[in-house]
Amino acid sequence: MKLFSHKDIERSQDLECDVCIIGSGAGGSTLAAGLTEDGFDVIMLEAGEHRWRKDFNMDEGEALQSLYQDGGLRTTADLSISILQGKCVGGSTTINWTTCFRTPDRILDIWQNKYGAHELTSAALKPHFEEVEQRLNVQPWPEEALNGNNKVILDGCRALDWEASTLRRNVKGCANSGYCGMGCPVDGKQGMLVTYIPDALKKGLRLYTNVRAERIEHSVTQAEQVIAQVWNPKTNRFTGKTLRIRAKIIVSSAGAINGPALFLRSGLNNNGLVGTRTFLHPVIGVSAKFQNPINGFYGAPQSASSHHFINRGRDKIGFFIEAAPTHPMLAATALSVFGKAQQEFMKNLAHSSFIIALHVDGVLEGDNGGTISLKSDGRIQIDYPISDALKEGFLASHQALCELALAGGAEQVSTLHPEPLVLSSAQELSLLSGKTYGALEHGIFTAHQMGGLRLGSDPATSVVNSNLQHHQLKNLFVVDGSVFPTSLGVNPSLTIYALAHRARSAVKNLL
Ligand SMILES: Cc1cc2nc3c(=O)[nH]c(=O)nc-3n(C[C@H](O)[C@H](O)[C@H](O)COP(=O)(O)OP(=O)(O)OC[C@H]3O[C@@H](n4cnc5c(N)ncnc54)[C@H](O)[C@@H]3O)c2cc1C
Repeated sequence: MKLFSHKDIERSQDLECDVCIIGSGAGGSTLAAGLTEDGFDVIMLEAGEHRWRKDFNMDEGEALQSLYQDGGLRTTADLSISILQGKCVGGSTTINWTTCFRTPDRILDIWQNKYGAHELTSAALKPHFEEVEQRLNVQPWPEEALNGNNKVILDGCRALDWEASTLRRNVKGCANSGYCGMGCPVDGKQGMLVTYIPDALKKGLRLYTNVRAERIEHSVTQAEQVIAQVWNPKTNRFTGKTLRIRAKIIVSSAGAINGPALFLRSGLNNNGLVGTRTFLHPVIGVSAKFQNPINGFYGAPQSASSHHFINRGRDKIGFFIEAAPTHPMLAATALSVFGKAQQEFMKNLAHSSFIIALHVDGVLEGDNGGTISLKSDGRIQIDYPISDALKEGFLASHQALCELALAGGAEQVSTLHPEPLVLSSAQELSLLSGKTYGALEHGIFTAHQMGGLRLGSDPATSVVNSNLQHHQLKNLFVVDGSVFPTSLGVNPSLTIYALAHRARSAVKNLL
């Protein structure tokens, strides 16, 4: 087994390989499995720790600290958006909620017609979806297994005659515990940690954990080597050891936000595009109180969704509806209330459902999402202005979520404003327009980071082509969610797996 941590790296080293992949998440691991199967010598660097089933003790505090970026406290610079993103072996797939959707045709049409990604048709992607779905055991989740939180979505949508359905999930032998976000303690989740990473390790992958790529050194036409620093998670400091990896091909799979930041640290900023058009599927939520227990902390976190409002016309931002688990730390931080109001809410946690609306950013004309840049000390800055169109979307989605919860049998539904609006009947929905929507007005979240190194056919307006190959440095690839030119309107992991699976042949053809 060629799995190394900071403890194994006693001195600085110069390494060589065919392909160096930075990041072990959805994109990086899928690609690593393909390339090692083809017999190539692959080194993968992962900034986070290697933790696995035996370490996953279902403790929320420990999980956030050890598996998430910035210990679970990543936010936009103005503190308005809380950003959940993985930092561990397997990346965000180790902590994700396993919802799987193929890329919608409507999004692929935009990528083809507006960004020149003519090769990315649903017919061309189909075999890639099929292969990853088989390896990750993507299967429909049975309606009888829905937890109370997700059932609210189905019940409410059926009562209102809105579109809704159960989901597909990448699980095998799922215990339906609901602890997906803390790392699966029974290896039921078929994320990278138990699928493509072990596949690649068996075929010779060298995986260095607690190793952060600082920069990619390059000439005008070639990526040359990766300079990486070794991190000690116990002392929370770099050890002072450096890895220099010379590779024929270098792949950034560091994910949206960190990938663009790596490019900026490396002086790779094509035409000022790097970090721009960063998308988050900005999320708002409501909390609904039920007479019967909901126990939204148990059971598959997401198993039903509604895309009823995905297309609201050319000048409005669409949204889709899903559930979020109600584990105490996540729930308490999602609330903007303190003191007695918070205590009251937490007392009712077992009877509360938490449903969310995810907004489809980057599709509306002129919606450029957010920007990643570097602060003067090198740390990452994330800016995401809330446009008027998005504020209108937030009001519309609040109305939809409240209506849905009440139709689904809620006694009361509350917004996540610091002074929440509490509604008890559909007749009160008009009161929602009296509240303010936008940055710091109510909770806003994201677990879906996309864009920042977008794909396209024109080197003047995109960073990589449809094969995920850099327009200028032909031996540099970006294989992760940062290549999306828009957000998706569905959960992103399956699209990333499929694009990474497809990129394998483009990388192979250069070796
Ligand atoms: C709580 C949560 C729930 C989610 N639920 C779902 C879901 O149900 N369905 C779905 O489709 N999606 C879900 N997602 C999102 C999905 O998991 C991600 O979109 C996907 O994993 C992103 O893949 P990626 O390859 O772009 O990056 P990631 O999977 O995030 O992997 C990037 C990796 O690169 C590492 N890295 C970053 N910088 C460096 C560096 N400089 N050097 C070395 N390593 C580095 C990071 O530590 C990380 O491990 C969820 C995400 C979260 C956080």
